Amino acid sequence: MSTPVKQTFYGGCPHDCPDTCSMIFEVENGKLVGVQGNKEHPMTHGGLCVKVKDYEKRHYHADRVLYPLRRTGPKGSKQFARISWDEALGEITDRWNAIVRDYGPQAIIPYSYLGHQGLNHGLNGGDAFFNQLGATVCERTFCGEGSATAWVLTNGPTSGVDPESFEHSKYIVIWGCNSVSTNLHAWRFVELARKKGAKVVVIDPYRSRTAKLADWHICVRPGTDGALAMAMINTIIDEGLADRDYVDNFTVGFPELADRAKERTPEWAAEITGVAADDIRMLAREFATTKPAAIRVGVALERNWGGGQAIRAICCIPALTGAWRDVGGGIYQMTFWEHPYKLDVISRPDFIPEGTRVVNNLQIGRALTGEMSLDPPIMSMMCWNSNPVTQAPEGDKIVKGLLREDLFLVSAEHFISDTASYADIVLPAAMGAEMEDIILSWGHNYLTYNTACVEPPGEAIPNSEIFRRLAARMGFQNERFKWSDSECLKHFIDWDSPACDGIDLEYLRKHGFARVNIGNPDDRAPHKEGNFPTPSGKCELLSETAAKGNFVVAPFRQMYEAFQPGESEPLDTLPDYLPSKELPETNPELAKKYPLNIIAPKSHGFLNSCYANMNHKIKGQGEQFVLISDTDAKARGINDGDRVRVFNDRGDYEALAQVTDDVNPGLVVTTLGYWRQLNRGTVNTVSSADFADMGHAPRVFDSLVQVEPA
Ligand code: SF4
Repeated sequence: MSTPVKQTFYGGCPHDCPDTCSMIFEVENGKLVGVQGNKEHPMTHGGLCVKVKDYEKRHYHADRVLYPLRRTGPKGSKQFARISWDEALGEITDRWNAIVRDYGPQAIIPYSYLGHQGLNHGLNGGDAFFNQLGATVCERTFCGEGSATAWVLTNGPTSGVDPESFEHSKYIVIWGCNSVSTNLHAWRFVELARKKGAKVVVIDPYRSRTAKLADWHICVRPGTDGALAMAMINTIIDEGLADRDYVDNFTVGFPELADRAKERTPEWAAEITGVAADDIRMLAREFATTKPAAIRVGVALERNWGGGQAIRAICCIPALTGAWRDVGGGIYQMTFWEHPYKLDVISRPDFIPEGTRVVNNLQIGRALTGEMSLDPPIMSMMCWNSNPVTQAPEGDKIVKGLLREDLFLVSAEHFISDTASYADIVLPAAMGAEMEDIILSWGHNYLTYNTACVEPPGEAIPNSEIFRRLAARMGFQNERFKWSDSECLKHFIDWDSPACDGIDLEYLRKHGFARVNIGNPDDRAPHKEGNFPTPSGKCELLSETAAKGNFVVAPFRQMYEAFQPGESEPLDTLPDYLPSKELPETNPELAKKYPLNIIAPKSHGFLNSCYANMNHKIKGQGEQFVLISDTDAKARGINDGDRVRVFNDRGDYEALAQVTDDVNPGLVVTTLGYWRQLNRGTVNTVSSADFADMGHAPRVFDSLVQVEPA
């Protein structure tokens, strides 16, 4: 009997996580038998998180969808029968052709997100197909798009300070990010800095895992970060801590911002944020006077009405203090801005017929139920890389829409997810180790190669192949639809750009990853002398672009530039504090019924809704819970471990109460990702699908609820 030979291949974690770990796939007899972090990778450093460290179990899970399926029972019953690919593709294209004939192509909408982050199989992988079809453009603003708008307005599309440069920082502020659970490998550089004497400050409305490890946890009331940032600006200017030379040379709008900040004193902010005025002053002084000083701003901040404005205010701080002068000084939001992706070639916005409408993915429940007036109505949706029933706000409304008998839902999936449960046709999608790709990263500056090293089980195929087959059936002739995955990768990256100097596809295949050539993290200070990619070339404390209107950056709307929200919504030229819509102070009538604010950060054990159907991951993460303070629990007769109902007018869910001082009275916390079919409701049922102030960001942390014993 021959001994099986273990082979290894380079992989890239495809999940919606900033770390985009370089992995080593271990393959025996054609099967993935293990995964390791790539020790050579400067960011991954050989470690994978708890979610992915046994990735092979996800590949070969017993519940995996292996064949095309057709619904045989009522919608949502999860009764399906196996059909052939030929039948599945025939039925889909027949139905779509009939819808195009009867309603026009805009009655069809694509729905995807970052369930896979690859250039071939990820967020934008189906854009060209649906743009050619003339379908409704789906604006996808789950996460980071509001902060992207704020970032671009202030600093322009720069990658900002490199997370690896944090090793050189002496003062680190992690603002609205639970790094230990959601950005683990950046945390390593924070720890390296701390070993060399850096102080680590975490600003978060509850005591997250990361806050517990901080030198100083500043517990800000949810949605009030803008007030805290404006008061820091006030202190920096008032106490003469601004770097006037940097400000004079490399910023615009200082006099106007100083004027705006004059009234935003620490005492004013203390009332709003719950943070003592002296602490606000100390934070501002320490940040301004310790060099190098850096901020990691998380996407959580954008999820309140004033989230975009808060992030703009925070983005101004490093320019005011001259933190950008130093290696390890400044701020970053997402790193990919200087990466050489050719998104126009991936998405082909030139295919979009003039006048095509846009529907936002957060509001899909309103679109499907007719609450949003649409002509033609949505008659078909294709969903891949996303699970809106669990992840998008107003979950009950989405289910109601998906139950429509006249809606034709196609789902490309790994499992019968909460969304796929309502599908008419389910297509078996391939997973990470089964598909060639280059994985995009928004949390470091590397291109990460992923080898197709095992065959997909059953008849699963990569997302790219699904769209190739659909395009062939629809008769699309453009060569874009005929490229293999390898050919796509040759076209999807600007290999001739300076960022790719010395890198090509063969290099990536050989080494697994390559650092984008934007400088070395040990000596890179990208805005030491300004060079901001803004219209003025400076950090725009005051933005004339804002006055032209709100916008969503193009990659999150199939690269489509028409019908931007700003065509009717001009923004303030200066940052400021905008109070949330659902706070006891701003909405006292609502707070009489629903007195508690709720936030829903990402889980430690799940990756959005991925893994939340796997028993051993559920065991690790624990049953759906809600963190509640002792004061609020006692007032409601709730004991630790009791089953409770969390509710408001939008919906309800049940969870186990964890009575803890990790949250202050007035706030409850439930993590996101639990599956609705395995729980009595999920947290996304209580959140609103209204937009925040910028970039059509979700307003999901801007919610009041009540909690009672179940
Ligand atoms: S989920 Fe994030 S931390 Fe975990 S392996 Fe993937 S990229 Fe790395």
